[in-house]
This record gives sequence, structure tokens and C-alpha cells, in this order.
Amino acid sequence: MAINIAAIALTLLLAARPASASADAYRLYLDGRLTDAARAYQDAFLSDPSSVKPLLDAAMVFKQLGKGLRAAEMLEKAALKEPGDPDILCETGWMYFHEASYEKADSFFEKALAAKRDHARAVLGRASVLAHLGDRAGTMRLLARYKELRPDFSGVDYIIAWNYVNFRMYGEAEEKLVEVLRQDPSFVEARLPLAGIYARQKKFDEAWNQYYRVLDWAPGHPIAAENIKFLEGKLTKQPEDIRPPFRITSPTRVGYVDAVQALEKSVRLKVGVGTDNTGKQARNNILKLRSFEGFTIKGRTSGKLYATVPAGESWTAVFEQDRVVVKNAADTVYGRFQGPIMLESTDPRTGSVIIEAVRSSKNPYFRYSDRQYRGALELYPMPGRGIGVRNHIDMELYLLGVVPAEVSSQWPYESLKAQAVIARTQAVLRSRSGPHKADGYHICDSQHCQVYRGVGHEANSTNKAVLETESEILTYKGKPAWTFYHSNCGGHTQSSGEVTGWGKLDYLKGRPDLPEEGAPAPRGPWDFHLWMTGEPPANCNYPEAVRSSEYRWLRILKHKDIEFRVNKSYGVGSLKEIIPLRRAASGNVNSIRFVGSKKTVDVDREHLIRNILGFGSLKSTLFSLETNRFPDGRVRNYWIYGGGWGHGIGLCQSGAAGMAGRHGKLYREILDFYFPGTSISRLKYVKKKN
Ligand SMILES: [Zn+2]
Ligand SMILES: [Zn+2]
Repeated sequence: MAINIAAIALTLLLAARPASASADAYRLYLDGRLTDAARAYQDAFLSDPSSVKPLLDAAMVFKQLGKGLRAAEMLEKAALKEPGDPDILCETGWMYFHEASYEKADSFFEKALAAKRDHARAVLGRASVLAHLGDRAGTMRLLARYKELRPDFSGVDYIIAWNYVNFRMYGEAEEKLVEVLRQDPSFVEARLPLAGIYARQKKFDEAWNQYYRVLDWAPGHPIAAENIKFLEGKLTKQPEDIRPPFRITSPTRVGYVDAVQALEKSVRLKVGVGTDNTGKQARNNILKLRSFEGFTIKGRTSGKLYATVPAGESWTAVFEQDRVVVKNAADTVYGRFQGPIMLESTDPRTGSVIIEAVRSSKNPYFRYSDRQYRGALELYPMPGRGIGVRNHIDMELYLLGVVPAEVSSQWPYESLKAQAVIARTQAVLRSRSGPHKADGYHICDSQHCQVYRGVGHEANSTNKAVLETESEILTYKGKPAWTFYHSNCGGHTQSSGEVTGWGKLDYLKGRPDLPEEGAPAPRGPWDFHLWMTGEPPANCNYPEAVRSSEYRWLRILKHKDIEFRVNKSYGVGSLKEIIPLRRAASGNVNSIRFVGSKKTVDVDREHLIRNILGFGSLKSTLFSLETNRFPDGRVRNYWIYGGGWGHGIGLCQSGAAGMAGRHGKLYREILDFYFPGTSISRLKYVKKKN
């Protein structure tokens, strides 16, 4: 398999321009005019039957339309012309498998394996057939073989676990699911069955813990929320013993802070702290506050000093009658504040204030982990809601808490510098005309803007990267550039103009995430399928530093679950088909059709597409969807082969790591690669005089 994929990547790069008939068909395909595209590919084949490629492309278009049997027909035709091609034989098998024709499927998988003994997808296909025939031992033997052939694919363990669950082999399933979650902690669809298995084994503490983690990734998840309530009466330990909060017990010692801090005049930011995923202040009912150096409490407008809290003492702020009520360490009310108050370490240079984890906090952000901040914390009452928290902090100190929260501080150094520059640029853009004007801060601390975790994650490497790029931002024609970034593009970034609601910008252009120069020829649906189900080379296919589950992944979604979700949002009635329509040149699905008994709905917003296709939100819109049916034609499951994590626009963080680590690229080269035509400018800072 690996050899095949490499060969395809090569053809992509070297291929001559495809015949124009196929190019036109490809355009129709990307535009989501699938019926026209299928016809155009078939016409292209008729006009030149010497090449089977248009037949294969037509087959993949039919697959996307949910017409598996038509797809199988095209593939069989192609297989007659190219009888030794294991990929064609294998995919024919898969089409029959998804249509519940297991015997036919198996015969094609066998032929594929006869043509190529190590064909991984054919091994997986045979395993899946045997699973449906109830042959446990045979299934598991072949899945073990599949794992040998695709050790790089995170979906392997998931498929194995999926089969254990179906065979009701719960002990084995548990072990595999733990492994799957080690590779991908955000994988809610794997956490739910694990919680169910624990509950079945009467391991209630473990089950409770898993459901709680589901809620971390998918707040408000109905099954998890219900089961947590049910399990609460059955716990054998205190919740804080099952899930001990993270405590900060000694001052953080990291380098370069003094140097970063030595600015007389920088950009002062107000950061919304503990915000939810829309960037809004969550409802803080209680905040517990402490500092290793001690801290002062002052009125924000008056500057009046209300209290000096000794080092190590924990004071509390609670929300009562629309006021911030401050209590001292003995729990005596110290003051009731109608206006904002400022909390600052008595060593404002390198000190910090800690918001301690409190189990009774209504804001999950302050429930499990102590949080530590440089600069000053402002607390203010939000009538009817709770205590708002803003962190007043210099730009460069703020960045110390952003870079290691966005990427791993262990990553190649030049990629950390690139991240520092784009994070600084984002902060500048948002503070000028940001989306949080009405909220009273420049930028929020959640993924909505960019993740900021305060002092907690700071590391020498990322602090140094901030210092060495001090004041540098990315500009385009003299203005700060929109430096969007994402975790992993899956091998090809998207143009901003291809995604609904993003707007077209010259420097946000989709490109293969490959080190080689020059744009490859456009792909067809068949190449895309092989690319998506394989492990093609890319900057972000960088297992030395990036989890493989971010580059290629697999989800098997139950029809009933998706039908429920689609109906919650769109009320389509019984769900008949899901058809991905429009795609970017990268392959990202930018509109998707839900055909229901009552109505048909097209969804074209990136986050809506991702949210609806999974309980924990799909990692990205870069995927190939296969509809799997019962023998009577009703849909059983959707198999989604996906790639990447995030929206795919701008800089690919994993790709930046790969460029720096594998190809020795410098941060400016990395920024040039992902934001072509931009340059670096400097903010006007003034250094402190000693
Ligand atoms: Zn925000
Ligand atoms: Zn990438």
C-alpha cells in the first residue's frame, strides 16, 4: 500500500495535464455537480477507451452520490481492462461490502490479494466481511495482519475495538479503546463505548470519569450528562479522588522572562479569561485566588488599595446580588464590590496570581486545574451572570502563554518562532478591530481566538522563540495579515475564498503541503480516494512530532446517531442520504446535502459540517464518506476516512514543524510558504532603561 501511494504522489507531481474532457469533469465534481460530473467522466471514457482512469473517477463520483452499485459496476468494468490492478479490485470489493453483498465483496478482496499479497485495504476488507459473517477468529487474525501493514494508521486500533464491541468481547475492547484514546484523547466516539464497558463491569468510578471527559470535549453531550447523574450515587471514591485537580505547588521557573518583560512601552492587552468556545465569559460563581508573592486588591478606576493578601494565602471571590464579594482566608467578608477590582502580584515584574481549581465552579475551566497569570487580573460583576475575568498583560508576556498552548514546546525551534509571529499578528489584528469589543476585551483565551493558558505551560524554548521574534508581525501591503492557522491540514491547505464566509485573500491560497516547488496537476476523484485512504507524504505527515491520528483518521458513525443529530438542527425527517457536494481543490467538503423524507438541506459552513457529523465534532472537513447499508438498502453506518485537524486555511502547524524539523527551514521560509507575498514588520516598542 505504501508503495502505491508514493507512486500516486509522484504521478500527481509529474503528471502531464489531463485530457481536457477529464479536467472539465473534475471541475464539475469540485463544484458539487455530481450527476453532470459522472456523465462527463463516462463520456471521457467513451471518447478514449484506452484509459480506465475516467471510469474510476466516475465510480468515485457515484460512490459520493450514495450509488454504491453504480460505482461497483464502473469499477468492475475498469477491472476487466486492468485485471492485475489490486486497488481497482479492492475498491470493487468495498463497494459490494457497503451494499451488503458480502460474497461478491470477498471474491474481489481475494482477487486483490492475489494480485498483491500485502494489500492493506484488501486485508481490512476481508476482515470486515468475516466480521459480518460472525467469524470472530478470522476477523481478528486479519485485523492483526492489517495492523502490521498499516502501523502508521490510527484508525487500525479503532476498527479492531469496533469489532470487539460488535462481538461483545468487552475485555479486549476496553484494552483497545484505551489505546485509541491514548493516540487521540479528543475521540469522543471512542470514549462513549469505553464508559459503557466500565459501567457494565460495575467500574463506576472509571465510567464516571470517562463520561466527564466526554463533557470536556463535547459540552452538554446528552448521553454523558445523563449517565453522569446516574453514576453519581454509585461512586466509591470522592470525585476529586477519581479526577484529582491539577495543583500549582511551586513557582514556575522558566528562562527569558526578565528579557521579555524589559519593555517600557509595548502593546497592552485585555484578555478574556476562562471563556467558552464562542469566546464569551462563562458564568463564574466562585474564584479562589492566591499568589506565591502575595497580591494587592485595588479599585480599577480609583486605584485605591483595598487589601494586600499575604503570600500563599487563598482568598475567595463569590458572586452575590450582582456584586463581587471578596472573602479572606478565614472566610470573612472583606468587601462587596459593585465596580471592577484589580489583582496584582506584589512582584509585578515576574510574579503572578493563581486562580485555584474549585470543584463547585460553574465554569469547567476553573474546576480541574489551577491557572496562573502574569500581569494583573481584573474581576468585575456581570449583572445576572457572574464574575467576569480579564487579564491585563503586555503583548510579549501574553505570547509566552499562547505559543506553548497552541503547539508543543518540544517542536523544532524554527516552527515555534513562526508560531510566535503569527500569534502576535493575530493578537494585533484582534485588538484593533476584534470580535470581542462588546465583551470588553481584545481577545479571548479559547480556540475562538487563540488558546492562552497563562504561566502554566510556559517553557524555555517557547519563551526564547517569543523573545527572538520580539515585536515581529506578518504584514501584507503594510497592514497586519490575517494569519489564520490550524493544527494539521491533512496534506493540502485550503484557499480562504473556497470556504463559505471566509472571504478571498491573496496570501491565503490553498497548496499541497509538500516541500517541492510547483503546483501538481489537479486530482481526480479516484486519486483523491487513494490519497485519503493512504498515508501520502506531506510536511504535516511528521510522526516524529505529530500524532498520526491528526493526519489520517477514521470514524464509523451509526446512521441512527447522525439522523438524530441532523434532525435536531434541521428537521429533515428520516434521513435518506448524506451527499458531500462542493469540494475545495484540497478535497475539503465545503457543502454537504442531507436528504430527508420531509426535506433536503444543504449545509455549507465549515463548523456546522464538522459539528453535525460527530458527537465530538469531526476533526476537519477533509474526508471521503462511504455509505454502508443493510441488505434491504437501508443505511447502517457511514464510514468516514478523514485527514487533518482544523479548517485547513493559512499555516499548518504540524506542517511547520515538519518543514523545520525534517527540511531545516527557517521561520521566515515557513511563513513565506504558508502566507506567500507577506513580509515581516515590527511593532514600535520602547526598551526599558536600566
Ligand atoms: Zn475570541
Ligand atoms: Zn499540513
